[in-house]
Order: sequence, then structure tokens, then C-alpha cells
Amino acid sequence: MNSPEINHTVEVLKDDIQRHVALTLGSDPFPPRQMHYYLGLCYSVRDRLVSKWLETQRSYYDSIAKRVYYMSLEFLPGRFLMNYIQALGIEDECREAVRDFGLDLDELLEEEWNPGLGNGGLGRLASCYMDSMATCRIPAYGYGILYDYGIFYQTIVNGYQHECADNWLRQDSPWVLRRVNFMYRIHFYGRSEVYQDSAGLERFRWVDTDSVMAMACDIMVPGYLNGNVTNMRLWKAISTRDFELEVFNRGDYIGAVQAKAESENISKVLYPNDQSARGKELRLRQQYFFVAATFQDILRRFRKNNYSSFDCFPDQVAVQLNDTHPAISIAELMRLLVDDEALDWERAWGICQRTFSYTNHTVLPEALETWSVDLVGNVLPRHMQIIFEINRRFLDEVDRRHPGRTDLLRALSLIAEGDRKQVRMAHLAIVGSHKVNGVAQLHSNILKNRLFRDFDEFYPGRFINVTNGITPRRWILQANPALSELITSVIGDEWIMDLDRLDALAPHAEDPDFRQRWQEVRRRNKKLLARYVLRKLGVGLNPATLFDMHVKRIHEYKRQLLNVLHVITLYNRIRTEAGGHHTPRTVFFGGKAAPGYFQAKLIIKLINSVAAVVNADPAVGSDLRVVFLPNYCVSQAEKLIPAADLSEQISTAGMEASGTGNMKFSLNGALTIGTLDGANIEIREAVGEENFFLFGLTEEEVVGMRVDGYDPRQYFERSLELKKALDMIATGAFSPEAPDLFRPIVDSLLNQGDYYMVLADYESYVHAQEEVSRAYEDQERWTRMSILNTAHMGRFSSDRAIMEYARNIWQVTPLA
Ligand SMILES: *Cc1c(COP(=O)(O)O)cnc(C)c1O
Repeated sequence: MNSPEINHTVEVLKDDIQRHVALTLGSDPFPPRQMHYYLGLCYSVRDRLVSKWLETQRSYYDSIAKRVYYMSLEFLPGRFLMNYIQALGIEDECREAVRDFGLDLDELLEEEWNPGLGNGGLGRLASCYMDSMATCRIPAYGYGILYDYGIFYQTIVNGYQHECADNWLRQDSPWVLRRVNFMYRIHFYGRSEVYQDSAGLERFRWVDTDSVMAMACDIMVPGYLNGNVTNMRLWKAISTRDFELEVFNRGDYIGAVQAKAESENISKVLYPNDQSARGKELRLRQQYFFVAATFQDILRRFRKNNYSSFDCFPDQVAVQLNDTHPAISIAELMRLLVDDEALDWERAWGICQRTFSYTNHTVLPEALETWSVDLVGNVLPRHMQIIFEINRRFLDEVDRRHPGRTDLLRALSLIAEGDRKQVRMAHLAIVGSHKVNGVAQLHSNILKNRLFRDFDEFYPGRFINVTNGITPRRWILQANPALSELITSVIGDEWIMDLDRLDALAPHAEDPDFRQRWQEVRRRNKKLLARYVLRKLGVGLNPATLFDMHVKRIHEYKRQLLNVLHVITLYNRIRTEAGGHHTPRTVFFGGKAAPGYFQAKLIIKLINSVAAVVNADPAVGSDLRVVFLPNYCVSQAEKLIPAADLSEQISTAGMEASGTGNMKFSLNGALTIGTLDGANIEIREAVGEENFFLFGLTEEEVVGMRVDGYDPRQYFERSLELKKALDMIATGAFSPEAPDLFRPIVDSLLNQGDYYMVLADYESYVHAQEEVSRAYEDQERWTRMSILNTAHMGRFSSDRAIMEYARNIWQVTPLA
């Protein structure tokens, strides 16, 4: 497996590390300093991947294989160093090499900053898919933006979220290779001009534009032990030179420098909004910047192979749109084919549809992207014209097939009429693609039967499902080495590449000896986490308690509030039944709120306020602890998830498209308490309903209750415990210094309709939690359930998901 040209022995590795410390970093190797040796190790590992990377890229050309372009405005890769070490199979050697210098590999790994180039699930999915494409040898490229500032770094000050700038490139990253020779010019603004070509045909061109350059910055993505290294190409905005000169010549030096700096703002910062789309001009410019650079790169590669015509473009190129963020691609490819390549419209449109496919990630109305026609017309005038033309032809076809249906025309139009006309990006993505997929079975059904029902009837077969997956390499092999080793010791290690093989664990659930080893590993993980929390937060936790975890973005639909109401209920029970038995719990929360999302930020404050009261109450003892872990990110998830007993997946049914956090927990042997939402449904089917704590309304019931008129007060009046919990929040029991502080939360539940149906699900949730506590009291039973969860998670490997994309959407096969 290891490349022959570089020797991986410990001695060679040590020499390499010291050589890099001295020659690359220019620092004295003695005495060994942790940060320098961390970087020395990074460069030594990088050297071992680069030649494989070049080989892999060459093999794509040699095989003239169809390539997949995974376009995503977000990636959340997590730390790279261990991922690279494991992909090369040199962990033992690296451990020994740094140990010989008196250093500890696990401590060195902590030196790496998390690249937070994504908000949450969507970005993490893109990174899991990159890992699987590299491991499954799908000829693929990831494309995105190299933001200078990723998702903000979250701290908690006096219980409130504070956002700090995440300047992750401050110390330069050894993983980002800048390609100063790959620069493309990207245009904005200007106008669309009509002219007559040499054949006398009316054509359009985009003129009088401003421009900025896009520079390619590459990050390697290795497959697991297969020598395959794919590329993630992220674009960075660089000001154009002539733009500078022009202003310089006018003598305005400071103005010129300022303008240069401003033009580079395009790739400056990731928008920190998860599940919300706000029509900000800079965001539109980011999207187009990314799309235009990527398509110049795709076309350059396509032309290199000297194809006779663009008709074979879709046989060479599959483009996956990760949500609508890159959907302007459809107008851009039309512009390139029609304006630059002089193809006629129908031909170009056929090429487009065969090239693109679109993954929908949400049905929440506030997250469906729209752009005002005025804004698009200003920033991208030619694209606006093209979108109108796509729409005109599309609506003509609708009218031909369904004459007189103006309601249908209005519903399907790419343009939403109103005082301010808006472009509906999802509609553009649907008409411009040959396949549209949802990310879990329930979500795909909602797309087909409700949100995009008319489109599904118009384009039969276009809508399909590909349930999300997670990569087992990061989410168990790397995150949970002890459990991985235990699994391998009984079923061998093929599960790492073929997760369905975990099935072979199931019979071992009946083996008391194996159960004990399983329990020991899980206890050790909990101890490790308790030590981490003590170090980071100064809070002592008891690893013997039930570790109950709710970590994900803070959003009303994810219902952290429902969990808080349960915590308060437990608290009240412990206080009123002093001396009674309560299954001791530690409840973990973690997650970022969008900086402009008032209600979500108030929920963070509420969690911390409840934690302060509960943790300080001597009557509670160790029966209940609540912790909010600041700055939830991939590295923190890797520490938390292996130590979880219970995974909270409690979104309002129909609102979580899939979830992937749910998969990570279950794979690591946590049991789930969850609603019938997203992939929870499929997880429950896979692990068995007896190994899953179900509660709550179904999606159909949620829809039905909205239609019939939902009255949250009725639930409030009916449950004394619920009433008491809400009264405590409302009257300042957790905020004595400001009794009205949480009024907006109580109002949203009682007086503003409780849109997320927290109160409707409260009672059923509390019952399910009682089931959880009972099950936990029987550790043998719990351990059996835990083993069966892991054993039946094979289907949720991102390898399975990627092979479905390859077969059903991209029509690509793995390279030999
Ligand atoms: C997996 C993951 C998510 C997505 O979690 P959900 O529970 O599916 O919302 C978000 N953030 C990080 C850092 C993750 O690793």
C-alpha cells in the first residue's frame, strides 16, 4: 500500500520531521518544541501523500473517466493530520517517532485548528462524501470557497453566546496548497449587450464588468489505505492587477489599496446562517464567484481532451449541486455554451440538464433561497436574462401540456411575483437538473408529495431519494479507537471499508463476556470526556451517570427547548421526591446559534441559566448535571459522541431533512430518543424498534394539527409538570436578576402558536425519557441494545450513499 519512493520506517520519519523543523520552519530542532514538531510531522505526512495525489490526478487523465464535480459552498472537514496518517496506515510509526522526541501524538493532534468552512450538517456531509469518493475511487473533485474566516468561534460569557472571529489561516495551514498559476477572472455587474455575429445572428455578450481573480487553493483528500488521493479545490479572491493600476494612475494610492482590499472581501467570511437564506448581495457574489471559477476549471479540463463537440460534455462531467447555493451554475453554463461557444439554446439546455443534479436539504420555507430580480439583474445582468429565457420556455411547455392552468404556471414559475419579484433558486435547480434528491426517505417523500408535487408530476422520475451517510473512517475508526479495536478483535477489520459487515457483531450481543468488554470501552470513553470537561470548563462530572447528549446547531425546529423542559421536570421531581431514586443523568448541550437569531441565542442563555441553578442546588447532588459545551465543532463531536449513552434527535416531525448527527451517535453505540423525522425513521428500522426510544407526533399528525388549528394552551393546562416548568421560566426562577428575561420563549410557546409543537410532544417525550431511565438501570439490557445499534448501522455509511449517487445519478463507476 505504501508508496515505494518514501520509506515509512520510524527512523526515516524522525529524520524527515527534524529536517522540516530545521529547513522548512527554520527553527532549532533542540530542544523539541510541540508546535514545531507538530508542523514538522504535518509536512512529513504531507510529503508522503503528494506523490499519490499527482498519480491519482494523472490516472484520471489516462482513463478519460467521467468526473464528478461536487459543488458545495461549505465543507466541514475537521482536522486533517490523523485522517492523513490513518489513510497512509502509518499511525504506529508516527506515534513512535514523536515519542522518541519526548512528545505525545495525541497532544500534537490538538495543535491543529479546525477548518470551519461550513455551518453544520450540510458542510459535514460534503466532507464525508469527499472521504467516501476517495475511498471508493470515484473520480471526483470537491469545489468550494477558501474563506479567511470560517464559522465563528463560540464562547459563553455570563451564559450568553459570544462570537469571535475564526481567523483559521492566521498561522497558515500546511494543508492548503496555493496554486498561483491557476487564476481565473470573474466578472460582475456591467450589462448585457446585443450584437450580430458574422453569420448575422443576434447574440449577447456581457460587457463593462468589474472583475476579481479566483485563485485555486487545493487540499488533498486521501482514500483509506488505497493510494488514491483526490482534490478539494477552494477558491480565494485576489484583486485584479489592471484594476489596481487604473486607480493608481489617478494618483489615489490609499483609495487604490482600499479598493483592492474590498474586492478581496468576496472570500473573506462564511455566512453563519444555518437553515436561513437572506438575500445579501455579498452572498450572491460569493455564489457566483465560486461557480464561475469552478466552471472555467471544468471547461479547461474538458478542452484538454480535445472533444469534437460539447454534446459529449455530460458524458465527461457530472455536477452535483449541494443545495441551491451553487444553482446559478445552471445559468452560467448556459451563458458559456450559448454566448461563448455559440451553441443553439435547445442543444445547450439539453447539455445542462444532463450535466446537473441537485440535492435538496430542507423544506423549511425560510431556508429556501430566493434572490430579488433587481439584485440579480444588477450583479449578473446576463444571467438574469438567461433565467427569464429558461423560465419563458419552461412555462410555454407547462402551458402546452396543461393549457389554461394559470395557477400551475404561477406555482411552477422560476419567478415569484409580488411587489419585489424574486428568483426561486430551487425551481431553477429542478428544471436545470436530470435528478433531484432528498436526503432521507421521509424528506424525499415530502418533496414529491407536497413541496414540489407539481414538479414531480411534470417531470416523472426526476425526484429520487439518497439517504445521507457518514464516513466510518472519521466517525468511528478515528473518533473511537478503543471501540474500533474491540470490533476488529471479534469480526476483523473489513468493516472499515464495508460497513455492512458490522452485522456480524449482532450475535456477540448475547455474549456476556463481550458485553462486559463493550461496557468497559464505553466507560473509559466517558471517563476521558469527563476529564476533558473538567480541564476545559472546570466542571466535575460523574462518568457513572447516563450521558445524555443534544449537540447540533441551535434552532427552534431541533427543539433544544423540549429537552430543557424535560431537564426542569427532572429537577422538580428530584426536589419534590427527595430521597427517592432517580437515574442519575448528565445532560450535555452544545451548538452554535446564528448570530442574528434572537430566539436561538436566548435558548442558549436559558440552557446555561438552568444549568447554573441545577448544578448549584445541593438537593440535586449528582442525580442531575447540565453542561453547555462551547464551540461545538467536528473535533469536539469526535470527543463527545463516543462517550454518549443517549442521543437526542427530537426535531418536530417533518422538519429535519435527514440529520447525520443521529447516525454518528448510533454507530458509536448510543441509543436514540427520537421522533419519526428524517433518517431517524430509517435508523429505527435498521436497529430495531425495541432498540430505539420513540416519541412524538408523526409528520402527518403535525400537518393535520396545523390544518385543524393547534392550541398549545390546552397541553399547558392539562399537564401540571409542564405548567410548573413553564411558570418557572416565565417568573424568573432561572433568572432572578431579570425575571422577564425568558418571557419571549414562554410567549412563543403559549401566545404565538408554538410553531414547532413543543408542548404537543412534551408528555410523550417525558414518558419516553422514563423508558430510557428504566432501560439504563438494567446495564446488561442497555449494553445489548448499544451493541445492536452499532451492529445495524452499516447502511448509514457514506460509502453506500456515494455508490447510490454514482449509479443512479452520475452514471460513473469506480476506477480500477
Ligand atoms: C454531524 C455534525 C453536524 C450535524 O448534526 P445534526 O445533528 O445532523 O444536525 C453539525 N455540526 C457538526 C460539527 C457535525 O459534526
